[in-house]
Amino acid sequence: MEYRRLGKSGLQVSELSFGSWITFGNQIGDNTSEKLMDMAYEAGVNFFDNAEIYANGASEKVMGDILSKKSWSRDSYILSSKVFFGAGGKLPTQRGLHRKHIVEACEQAMKRMKVDYLDLYFCHRPDKETPITETVWSMHNLIQQGKILYWGTSEWSAQEIMEAHMVAERYNLIGPTMEQPQYNMLVRRKVEVEFSQVYRTVGLGTTIWSPLASGFLTGKYKGKHAKDFRLKREELGWLAEILLVEENFNKIDKLDALAKNLGMSLPQLGVSWCLKNKNVSTVILGASKEYQLEENLKASELKTKINTQVLEEIELILDNKPNQPQF
Ligand code: NDP
Repeated sequence: MEYRRLGKSGLQVSELSFGSWITFGNQIGDNTSEKLMDMAYEAGVNFFDNAEIYANGASEKVMGDILSKKSWSRDSYILSSKVFFGAGGKLPTQRGLHRKHIVEACEQAMKRMKVDYLDLYFCHRPDKETPITETVWSMHNLIQQGKILYWGTSEWSAQEIMEAHMVAERYNLIGPTMEQPQYNMLVRRKVEVEFSQVYRTVGLGTTIWSPLASGFLTGKYKGKHAKDFRLKREELGWLAEILLVEENFNKIDKLDALAKNLGMSLPQLGVSWCLKNKNVSTVILGASKEYQLEENLKASELKTKINTQVLEEIELILDNKPNQPQF
């Protein structure tokens, strides 16, 4: 496993990390969750990703129960949560990025995960109803209180991230260190184009999500597919509609052939491709079964097979390179 700096911060995060969306406290049993965390940790993964909304708090609870059983030293791993969507409560005080919810959500996440502090704390989406100054102050105060170590954003625009930095600079506060955007072979614009200046100006780190487009980029949706595949879940019907289209299946066929030529599997190609982007600090893996994580973790070694020529071949197949703005 290799480690990369989280943006301009000094924190070294494993280039592959592990998250619990859909799976922990929901799709998979707690024993499987524990085995997956063991496998990840033993492979050198040092970052585990979570959020208040995942299974309405149950995902944090399962992860906390697992962590408290382990003899892993607290200084050997990085733990995150995210605030915005709430943990199931629908009242206006129970969600958003106002000071009250940020403070309460952080306390609740620490309690569910049975830890004294969170290493990374993300604003899960921008909150159009709360002044950004209030959010920046609230996150800064949590750092000052020792409850979180770094704060960041998820699916914020470059403009919103820069606004947070302007506020931080004005009041001498700590600004966001990292952003958590979606990034995979089918979704590229934010990471490759929109943030291209922000990496340089404020040294933004990225913890990217859905590297395999929720499993679509494994190729397993060709032909017959099992009921327990993620994109068969009723609540994700909207995502299946976007992904399971002929144009994408044609790309999958060609990528699969390329992966075979390289001596790797399609999921390994998908994860390795994300790792080749130097602005990616860590690729967050998801898995519902042990064989999946075992397979995907190998991408750390296999990424060296993705040379410039292979990247060009992939580019030809994908045919979706986002245009860089012309100056
Ligand atoms: P992926 O795109 O890698 O999807 C993971 C899923 O794909 C698995 O649960 C499994 O689903 C399937 N899969 C993965 N590997 C294989 C394999 N080798 N063979 C067959 N199937 C495979 O990542 P996620 O979408 O899970 O995202 C990773 C993490 O990112 C999340 O856990 C979460 O922590 C974070 N995230 C953050 C978001 C945000 O808004 N900030 C949003 C979404 C995720 P199955 O077996 O059910 O088909």
